[in-house]
Amino acid sequence: MRTNYKDDFPLLKNSTAGGKPLVYLDNAATTQKPAQVIEAVKEYYEQYNANPHRGAYPLSEKATEVYEAAREKAAEFIGADSPEEIVFTKGTTESLNLVASSYGLDNIREGDEILISIEEHHSNLIPWQAVAKTRNARLRYLYTDENGKLPLEEISAKINARTKIVAVTQVSNVLGIVNPLGEIVRRAREVGAVVVLDAAQSIPHMPVDVRALDVDFLAFSGHKLYAPTGIGVLYGKKEHLRKMQPLLFGGGMVDDVSEQDATFAEGPSKFEGGTQNVEGAVGLHAAIDYLEGIGYERIGQIESELTQYALTRFHSIPHVTVYGKESGNNRAGIISFNIDGAHPHDVSTILSADNVAIRSGHHCAHPLMRHMGVNATCRVSLCFYNTRDDIDILIESICKVREVLG
Ligand code: PLP
Repeated sequence: MRTNYKDDFPLLKNSTAGGKPLVYLDNAATTQKPAQVIEAVKEYYEQYNANPHRGAYPLSEKATEVYEAAREKAAEFIGADSPEEIVFTKGTTESLNLVASSYGLDNIREGDEILISIEEHHSNLIPWQAVAKTRNARLRYLYTDENGKLPLEEISAKINARTKIVAVTQVSNVLGIVNPLGEIVRRAREVGAVVVLDAAQSIPHMPVDVRALDVDFLAFSGHKLYAPTGIGVLYGKKEHLRKMQPLLFGGGMVDDVSEQDATFAEGPSKFEGGTQNVEGAVGLHAAIDYLEGIGYERIGQIESELTQYALTRFHSIPHVTVYGKESGNNRAGIISFNIDGAHPHDVSTILSADNVAIRSGHHCAHPLMRHMGVNATCRVSLCFYNTRDDIDILIESICKVREVLG
């Protein structure tokens, strides 16, 4: 069975500093790209770059064909009913803003409640603050317990007849913990609330099927899924997308325009005003093909074994606090930690001298940081191309931090 995937990733293969190999552990921020994705993008530019959906000449037709093929692939990948339910965006942020503006503003009334969790990335928080403020609605939070989990009682207590939208992340980008989505959706359905799922941190690690999960909207970013930056997906149930107003007005999203009025295209084109990111869509298609070639089962095996190994190593070193108590099986490979007496930024700077790349800061989750009672954390995020050697180098480097700081 194949164990080393780094060879597929040119940047990981070729990057050393001071003779030290790159240990890339910031995959929750963005992933590296396999040669298959880079090749697909190169081929697009070398062989069929044109503006899609506009020209009646072969190159433009080919660009249209590959763009729409990527939509079909994305639909199949997440189990959507049809490609018509896939809107290409810049990424999770744009997808969630689109739902908040186009669905939220039209469907939330004074006194309604929008429920999110305290773990949300700002992308799934600030757009809902804006909707709540504009509509005089109430933005409520599901709070995590001391282990970083969302208690089931919290879910049943906070979802009520006034709840119109429940927007949650499937996996916390800080704690890595997988949220009890089944319970959230079940409760939301009981009160007729719409469920918006932020899958930015789940889809790189586990199969995500919109029909099985029964969510109304789902957002993810290509760049966290081994695809290029600048491409993302908003899945929306057809019945919702059909009624929603576009956010971006311009070329490519209209049916007819008169001097004073316009009618809009049917289907996802309505939300894709302006020249589409064909290169990104082609890269996303190649990334999904690449992932499917490995399979989520294998990805899950590697990542949960690595996460368990990393957690065991973390727990064996003194002066380190790991946030969120959950085993390797019920969390993605995201581990937030702090070292007594060391600022997270200092930690990541010291680690970077060993060519170990981790993230430090608030991870675009200020409310969660406050809830946890910390200003910032260090964050290691693993994926299937990482190895035990990476973890060993990381831990060795962490063990030096307090010494370096004196
Ligand atoms: N949601 C979560 C859970 C994330 O982790 C991130 C990025 O880290 C985002 C949303 C925003 O993604 P993007 O910056 O690709 O739009």
